[in-house]
Amino acid sequence: MEGLCEHSARAREGPDICLQQLEDGLALAARQAGIQLSDVAVVGLDTPGPASAAGLFSARGSTNFVHPAWAGFNVRESLAKRLGKPVTYLNDGNAAALWGHFVLFGANDPATSVSVIIGTGLGGGVITHGNVIKGRRGFGGELGHVLLPYQRITAINGIEPRCNCGRTGDLESLCSLTAIEKTLLPFFLEKNPYHSLNKTGNSREAAKLVRGLAENGDALCREMFHVQAQALGLFFDEMINTFDPDALIIGGGALETTADFQRWFIGEIRAGMPNQREEQADIPIHVMPNGDTAGARGAAIEALKFARYSGLL
Ligand SMILES: [Zn+2]
Repeated sequence: MEGLCEHSARAREGPDICLQQLEDGLALAARQAGIQLSDVAVVGLDTPGPASAAGLFSARGSTNFVHPAWAGFNVRESLAKRLGKPVTYLNDGNAAALWGHFVLFGANDPATSVSVIIGTGLGGGVITHGNVIKGRRGFGGELGHVLLPYQRITAINGIEPRCNCGRTGDLESLCSLTAIEKTLLPFFLEKNPYHSLNKTGNSREAAKLVRGLAENGDALCREMFHVQAQALGLFFDEMINTFDPDALIIGGGALETTADFQRWFIGEIRAGMPNQREEQADIPIHVMPNGDTAGARGAAIEALKFARYSGLL
């Protein structure tokens, strides 16, 4: 089946209610797919992090999981116990990256891909031979916190882009909805006091309007996307020299836009890349397929891999 069986987000109320929502959602999805719950062999779960590769949330809590009961909570194990089935776990960026890779290369290709998902923050993933690089503590592919030589972006001369993680000048600090709200919008609006977004009052609401205005040709909003494209160009250059990947993939809310705007944005990313070796200059840049369902699809691929590996299928 296609699509999402969504519940409203109630993570603020703690794990119990959310696990119940997951259980209800699975039952609903099974019903819509016309199968029995007993026919479900493995469940694939993905959530925002930070969490270990096994699905243990950080003891320090996180933006998305503020209720104290989430600190140090093992979401994968708890869901597995509740459902009485094996559950695989990926963070949401890694899950979407796995889906993007799977669509381009299938499950058994030795290719390597690097994906970035531009949302409130910036998630991502590195996939090789069909597998997610999870790393020692589950932070593999936390691409938002890779530092950039952002001083090369002349349009933001003098800016100090701070990230929630405490760093200055990482990819998320320039390329995310939060970066637009906290850094780029204040910087550009100060220089353009008569711009209509100065009248919005609420900075989060103003940040959400930027993409639509950029699509419609607003010069200031285009410039913010131009800066984000240049940041991505610098970042992808680092990835090309680290992994020599077969493909780069970009997704998330920032890319849920017209084909024309996507093409312009990708062209600007390419233009923002330092010169590449001749052999690497033609690296393809793709838009993440299937929009906001990419994470759920990637989680399902991870579950399928587990089922095949462990002989359940
Ligand atoms: Zn950061």
